Amino acid sequence: MNFPRNFRKMTPSDRRQWLADSVGQPDLLDAPTASAHYLNMADTLVENSVGIVGIPLGVACGFMIDGKEYAIPLATEEPSVIAAASFAATIIAHGGGFVTSATDPIMECTVYVENADAQMRQHIESMRDELEFGLVKLLHSMSRRGGGFRSLDILEMSSIPMLKIVCAIDVRDAMGANLLNTCAESIAGKLSNTLGINPVMGILTNNAGQRRARAECRLSASRAAMLCRGMFSGGECMRRFELASMIAHHDKDRAVTHNKGIMNGISALALATLNDTRAVEAAAHAWAQRDGAYRGLSVFAPDGDALVCSLDMPLPFATIGGSTGTHPTAQFCLDLLHNPSSPHLARIAASVGLAQNIAAVAALISTGIQKGHMPLHHKKNRTAKE
Ligand code: NAD
Repeated sequence: MNFPRNFRKMTPSDRRQWLADSVGQPDLLDAPTASAHYLNMADTLVENSVGIVGIPLGVACGFMIDGKEYAIPLATEEPSVIAAASFAATIIAHGGGFVTSATDPIMECTVYVENADAQMRQHIESMRDELEFGLVKLLHSMSRRGGGFRSLDILEMSSIPMLKIVCAIDVRDAMGANLLNTCAESIAGKLSNTLGINPVMGILTNNAGQRRARAECRLSASRAAMLCRGMFSGGECMRRFELASMIAHHDKDRAVTHNKGIMNGISALALATLNDTRAVEAAAHAWAQRDGAYRGLSVFAPDGDALVCSLDMPLPFATIGGSTGTHPTAQFCLDLLHNPSSPHLARIAASVGLAQNIAAVAALISTGIQKGHMPLHHKKNRTAKE
């Protein structure tokens, strides 16, 4: 197949025609989502666009978060994710639901300066006021929204002879990538102009440990037993939940899968709202190994006669900017969630992640995961063959 050299310059419909002629399956490109409207949108979002991948969008029902009912849009190709989240959420809602909180949406960018001896550090330190003043000016609009410049740190890296300048910014409802990158490059530019040094790079970090959300729920013995489909007594279910939490804390092999289950819900919400799924996932996995060992992100611990289930993790969700603002389905999904702010959406995401996690662990410690999964997979395979 000779790929056309001018593919980039072709229109989306010419690119699609070329693919259809070359691959010979034009019907595959005629998915219902491939309307002119969506093709134009795809062409504004990415390069060399040829179509749209239609990922199923469903609604997880039964959520009670901070005393309010929610139907949560999830985009996922995996059967059983939406059913599991709804099952756990409904049982948890009857016990009071999720209680959530979030930090301010603070993100950081970094600038790296090589061969940084004590004198260089002093020079950069002497520019601190100028750097901070420049950032405050650059972030004027964000300050008017209640966000903006928060701090600037000049750090010596312990393992290589480099200085790392870290700037923290409250990005309000945006993911903030472009603003953070602009700030990092502005710092680098000022260092270059004033000190004649050329920093190695300036870029945001996806290590979003300052932009976190937390969800918590209390499970009584009877609700723990319901989640485990009555296989054990309530007390035994609670004990097994706690053991599952300990295993995920101490064993990386289990922790990775435990966290994948949490991300089944969170990534699906990120995709439904057209957030940057890779950024959300990178932040989650960095947080999971913040003390040097990779651990489960959630904790299940007894408290009196209940089991407290909690999830506290970085959730850099945007409700403005990026692709979120340009995709009608993402806008519909935000409408369904009553147009939350970024921290509010992060709190919803934490609840979805925890519901998903509780449902998966409940199945694992009782009937096993396959009992619930396989009928849905069989249904999918049957439908695909028909
Ligand atoms: P953006 O460039 O669309 O900027 C959002 C803008 O919205 C803000 O700069 C601000 O001017 C405006 N705004 C209006 N009302 C606001 C409010 N209430 N709160 C905050 N801002 C408000 O988007 P972004 O968030 O800068 O960047 C997100 C995009 O960057 C995503 O598509 C992401 O995939 C991409 N990206 C990611 C990385 C990374 O994660 N490493 C790197 C580069 C780009």
